[in-house]
Amino acid sequence: MNYKIALIKGDGIGPEVVGEAVKVMDAIGEKFGHKFEYVDILMGGCAIDAVGKSYPEGTAEKCKECDAVLLGAVGGPKWGHSTDPDKRPETALLSIRKDLGLYANLRPAALRPALAESCPLKNDKNIDLMIVRELTGGVYFGKKDRYQTEDRGEEASDLMAYSEKEIERIGRRGFELARLRGKKLASVDKANVLETSRLWRQVMHRLAEEYPDVQYEDVLVDNAAMQLVRAPGQFDVVVTENMFGDILSDEASMITGSIGLLPSASIGDTAPGLYEPIHGSAPDIAGQDKANPIATILSVAMMFRYSFDLPAEAQAIEDAVDAVLNEGWRTADIAKPGETAVGTLKMGELIREKL
Ligand code: NAD
Repeated sequence: MNYKIALIKGDGIGPEVVGEAVKVMDAIGEKFGHKFEYVDILMGGCAIDAVGKSYPEGTAEKCKECDAVLLGAVGGPKWGHSTDPDKRPETALLSIRKDLGLYANLRPAALRPALAESCPLKNDKNIDLMIVRELTGGVYFGKKDRYQTEDRGEEASDLMAYSEKEIERIGRRGFELARLRGKKLASVDKANVLETSRLWRQVMHRLAEEYPDVQYEDVLVDNAAMQLVRAPGQFDVVVTENMFGDILSDEASMITGSIGLLPSASIGDTAPGLYEPIHGSAPDIAGQDKANPIATILSVAMMFRYSFDLPAEAQAIEDAVDAVLNEGWRTADIAKPGETAVGTLKMGELIREKL
């Protein structure tokens, strides 16, 4: 089969980790007889430098001509200060999610067996959960305001809104994924305080009746944060709104060892889906051959599984990563003190060799 993939390498370590992921895709292509064509797309800080806008005109259209999008990371201190949205890299991230209709963000957090000792938790090392984060609604997309008051100085507000339709479509994704995994779904909200959460819970309870085979529970977000470090093994699929998902998925990532290991998928009802590591552009290590490329390489495995329905190819990548880790190879972020670390290029090469 032939596949056309949009590459948004972005800023900082983005081009380095995407570079290794592309070489892995080519190795899979050779092994399984697929052909991958790549389309480079400028987005983020590098686009601000080149054309004055983080999200150049036509970005979404170019992506829509492809079967899937692979993103490195965008942003960095160089572009962090502008108040002009066109000159902020994050604007591009929010825009592309909206324009491609990517309302569901799937973030697996699984402790790779070879790295059990990197897990900071003492007891529960049986971690294999998937956070399903709503990605195009809630407070990140609500109306923003800033105004002067007569007696309280300046005031700012961010509106948090969710519609029944938005909750239902992400809720269904949660139930469907739970069916494919351990048949357990935790829905995280703050229904004791937020009206959006009370609507969220009402819709989720209605859906739960349609999925009697899935064991369902409501968890308040503060409790969820606590349970994730107390006993993460209790969770299978966790579905939640945009901001809670943003925060909880970073927490979940750290209990599995390193942010450099975790992939993510953002999908909607139509192609293309967007696949990216959960980490950012890591400006502190950019250009030094220190970045761990595994999160981006595992994002390609998610692309194969969810966009192309190629489970054997996805499994081959995951097995290659585990084989390299089992042999004791580590990048600096996952090496124990005193252990020798390999660089980005070498880690990519080792994984390709296993394929
Ligand atoms: P970050 O994820 O870039 O870095 C946090 C820490 O983790 C740093 O110490 C970094 O060196 C380390 N790290 C991250 N990825 C790594 C990897 N693959 N291998 C080894 N170490 C790794 O988060 P940050 O420092 O908060 O943000 C830096 C920039 O990235 C900011 O401009 C931010 O806006 C942007 N960002 C972009 C995205 C995205 O493009 N989706 C996501 C998060 C942050």
